[in-house]
Amino acid sequence: MSDIIQLLPDHVANQIAAGEVVQRPASVVKELLENAIDAKATHIKLIIKEAGKTLIQVIDDGVGMSVTDARLSFERHATSKIKTAEDLFQLNTKGFRGEALASIAAIAHVELKTKQEKDEVGTEIKIEGSEVVSQEVCVTPKGTSISVKNLFYNIPARRNFLKSNTVELRHIIDEFHRVAMVHADIKFDMYHNGSEVFNLPVSNHRQRIVQIFGGKTNEKLVPIDEETDLVSITGFVAKPEYAKRTRGEQFFFVNDRFIKSAYLNHGVNSAFEGLLKEKTHPSYFIYLTVDPTSIDINIHPTKTEIKFDDEHALYAMLRSTIKHSLGQFNVAPVLDFNRDASMDTPYEYKSKMVQTPTIEVDRSFNPFKEDPKDSNGSSTKSYTNFKKESTGSWENLYAGLDTTEIPSKPTESDFSTVQFESTEVTGSLFEGNTNTDLEHNTTYQLRRKYIVTTIKSGMVIINQHRAHQRILYEEVLKNITMASAVSQQLLFPLKLSFSKQEVTLLKTVQEQLENTGFVFEDISGEEATISGIPTVITESEVSMLLEKLISDIEHEVPDTGFSLTDLLARSISGSIAVRTGADLAKEQQQHIVNSLFACTEPTISPDNKPTFITLTVDDIDKKF
Ligand code: ADP
Ligand code: MG
Repeated sequence: MSDIIQLLPDHVANQIAAGEVVQRPASVVKELLENAIDAKATHIKLIIKEAGKTLIQVIDDGVGMSVTDARLSFERHATSKIKTAEDLFQLNTKGFRGEALASIAAIAHVELKTKQEKDEVGTEIKIEGSEVVSQEVCVTPKGTSISVKNLFYNIPARRNFLKSNTVELRHIIDEFHRVAMVHADIKFDMYHNGSEVFNLPVSNHRQRIVQIFGGKTNEKLVPIDEETDLVSITGFVAKPEYAKRTRGEQFFFVNDRFIKSAYLNHGVNSAFEGLLKEKTHPSYFIYLTVDPTSIDINIHPTKTEIKFDDEHALYAMLRSTIKHSLGQFNVAPVLDFNRDASMDTPYEYKSKMVQTPTIEVDRSFNPFKEDPKDSNGSSTKSYTNFKKESTGSWENLYAGLDTTEIPSKPTESDFSTVQFESTEVTGSLFEGNTNTDLEHNTTYQLRRKYIVTTIKSGMVIINQHRAHQRILYEEVLKNITMASAVSQQLLFPLKLSFSKQEVTLLKTVQEQLENTGFVFEDISGEEATISGIPTVITESEVSMLLEKLISDIEHEVPDTGFSLTDLLARSISGSIAVRTGADLAKEQQQHIVNSLFACTEPTISPDNKPTFITLTVDDIDKKF
């Protein structure tokens, strides 16, 4: 039999290898930024177009390359950073594999311009799919500029696999942060589609964190500092009261590289034990320096895990250092023994205190019918909310009750919730006029989680949270698409701080948010000024709701029918729907039952989980 094995042509081998290194535009950004740092740049500019799908350019003022090196830099395993295997254990550069440029050039259109200080003129090389298209002498300042255009142009499958621009840009900004947070002594600029996203002057770690995450960050930070034989630990943790609902701002750097470590993260969390609200995560920015021989740096280029020789000791030190700093900065309870603990309302219970008024209301009194312009300036109420807590919006306490009191056919002037009466009712469960059937039924709340009621054929058990989420979801969705929501005007505009990238994301949903009832006076820089909010939420909930929304947008995987409108409606309804554990008055239970079955899709929650189950009399009979 004849031989069948062949060596793959270089460009094919390169393309295959490229798949390992370049997974998305952000991978290119990381490699190019790291090369600029290795070249000792003091100023690095990142220029992005269309979330990196059309252009990624990095310009640095580093050492540049000679003509020969410029050409060689695109060869696989061509590196100036290590010479022998031993060098691997004493690395002080980011790169060492000599793979990045070769990989990138295999799957994109690349233009390189570079010049060393001592040279009069520079070199310009153009490469497309590993083929050198041209090499010329050029006039260019000292340093290197690399443009990567049309990424994955020759691998359509990979190109199609890329996520939406919002998501890809988000990954790019993440990589940019990770690099910029370590190298505060380097000036970084970033532009996207022609406008400046970041302009980070030379500073120190603390200032750099503040430049990136916003002016309000400074007051949140508690410095940590510890030096032992094994490790030097510096950086910051955010005070516990600033813990976030998402893990967004958690950073470990080891010897100037960003890493992820579930184990060390656990160590940090344990230092915060007892200080955090439930389901919140501390923010931290921690720089570890260890002997390079004590870690396995030979990590895969796209991976961020790392192996330490003595992870347990590191864990213990990290934990005690953070505990110590938190104590010193007066935030740990250990210094607070004399405080009256009964004054600290656990967050989750705050809303419970206000349940009482719901049974004390004067039911004949309807503040809205008397005077449609209430003190907050809102003219009508929308949504079917009733779990409101804060005294500042006491009228919300009545909203649910009021709606449920409407005997049978609500009039046009009533709350917008009733508009659902006119939408198509999925009535398969019930015979005849389903709504009236239900209204006369009694309901029963089971374990503060389910609402039980009967129908002709048997019994329905409704999950209160999911059902309410479905109801609110359809209302929010409707408001967004029809721009029909009303808002309550705030007496004093609410100013909320965000990081620049959060502001960027917020702007992408500004219009939809306005349709739900938000009024933004201004969104710019690191701040959003809000003068009106949907009637369904209270002022104190706004910040949580927007924070959750931003994180939902960031983390949404937009593969399956990604729609911003849907995401927004899901996020808002998820934030404000009654929770499992909430005690519901009879009227509220009935209101949920009625509104649910007036929904277009009552059977599933917005996250596709069943909202209720039925037990027919037959089913019950069988059990006896
Ligand atoms: P590595 O960084 O692992 O060495 P790369 O493929 O990223 O591999 O780069 C190959 C070589 O090209 C580097 O070792 C370096 O000598 C040179 N090089 C790449 N980018 C730059 C730059 N911005 N400035 C100067 N030299 C560079
Ligand atoms: Mg490199």
